Amino acid sequence: MRRAVAVPLVLLLAAAGCTRASDPVPVRTPVPQPTFSAGTDGIGDDYFPAYGNGGYDVAGYDLNLRYDPASGKLGGTATITATATQDLSAFNLDLAGLTVSSVTVDRATARFSAARNELTVTPAVGIVRTTQFTTVVEYAGTPQAIGNDTLGEGGWQRTRDGGFALGQPESASTWFPVNDHPADKATFELAMTVPDGVAAISNGVPGGRTSSGGWSTWTWTESKPLASYLSFVAIGHYRVESATHLGKPMVIAIPESLPADGPAAKSLARTGEVADFLATQFGPYPFDAYGGVVLDDQRVSYALETQSRPVYGSVFFRAENAGVVAHELAHQWFGDSVALERWQDIWLNEGFATYAEWLWSEHEGTATAQQIFDRKYESFDWTRTPGRPGTAGLFGEAVYDRGGMTVHALRKAIGDAAFFGLLKSWPAEHADGNATTEDFVRSAEKAAGGKDLSAFFDDWLYGRTKPPLSVNQ
Ligand SMILES: [Zn+2]
Repeated sequence: MRRAVAVPLVLLLAAAGCTRASDPVPVRTPVPQPTFSAGTDGIGDDYFPAYGNGGYDVAGYDLNLRYDPASGKLGGTATITATATQDLSAFNLDLAGLTVSSVTVDRATARFSAARNELTVTPAVGIVRTTQFTTVVEYAGTPQAIGNDTLGEGGWQRTRDGGFALGQPESASTWFPVNDHPADKATFELAMTVPDGVAAISNGVPGGRTSSGGWSTWTWTESKPLASYLSFVAIGHYRVESATHLGKPMVIAIPESLPADGPAAKSLARTGEVADFLATQFGPYPFDAYGGVVLDDQRVSYALETQSRPVYGSVFFRAENAGVVAHELAHQWFGDSVALERWQDIWLNEGFATYAEWLWSEHEGTATAQQIFDRKYESFDWTRTPGRPGTAGLFGEAVYDRGGMTVHALRKAIGDAAFFGLLKSWPAEHADGNATTEDFVRSAEKAAGGKDLSAFFDDWLYGRTKPPLSVNQ
């Protein structure tokens, strides 16, 4: 992101055998029965205990939805393929403000109940650990944003000509049932039906578009696992340009309210060029599609690295701005392909995206990374730390600027050869996965030939005084 300025339901699985009086009574050794219990209603994140759920691991979401801009109503079906990570009697999905009409698990009707932002599903029979199961949820309603006092609103927002769903750290649960935490990445497919003449843009590779009775269905497939907050949809009047870049689809959508050749369009037109530059620094571009979407809405005062197709608030484009494009595209490696395991490690996303802006600036001949570092190093308030920033500091200056400085200081500490090797080996080792700060420290030490960097990271990520500058040793 870049800112502009249940009660456990124990299911008794009685094997109801039918025995006639004349049958011999079988002699059986007792078999240990699996202990079925409900999955937890949070995935275990210290910062956001209610986010996500436990007991299963989603492999894919397949959404078939219809949205009517005139009424603001959304409805349809979510098909969720998952694997049980425990013997499950019941499990939760996150869903905020929408009404569920039916749930099946493996085609059998399931009981369900909704309370606050949790949908609890009780399948007809318990699900054995390691079993894959398919949940189909039919739902409808008028989607609404959710949020909190410190981080603002995320999720669905209605607009004059449509709507959009966007936000960090949460957004997805306002428009589909989801295990809403980046630790559970999954593939994402969307078929969104909207009135003819209205566009519906989302993540990944565009599929065929069909039209019937005045409604058009737009289809999108993200086949690389995605953290739920990196899903999005933007519905409205857009100029949608489809092209290919290095053999992959490039889809750029600019609202009709903005000029076709204005700063927003000119900035996003550089998407391929910026992505190619970043690939020279970070290794091959990690996804199957490229692109970008601009939202011309004053509620969106940020840009977000939605997977394969970042979304940018128009506030960034009073003039041409490829820097913000570099930031959001850098997240495709740092944040999207290598996703957070827990929110407290957000500097792993923002520190590297900030540093990518510095590298881009140097590439453009504006200012070198060293010059930008020097300026910030002199004036920064070191009482604020990027490691474990707290929920209120999740998108604070320390995470971005001190995060970026930490990356540059690491470069100085281990030398350019080890550092630029690490910039490529880290995304390669954790591609399509999740990682923590501890994982990164280990990778950095390995890249540095086994050097102990614990004191370095303690100073830069957690220390409350100005960290000393190390010279390449
Ligand atoms: Zn960012």
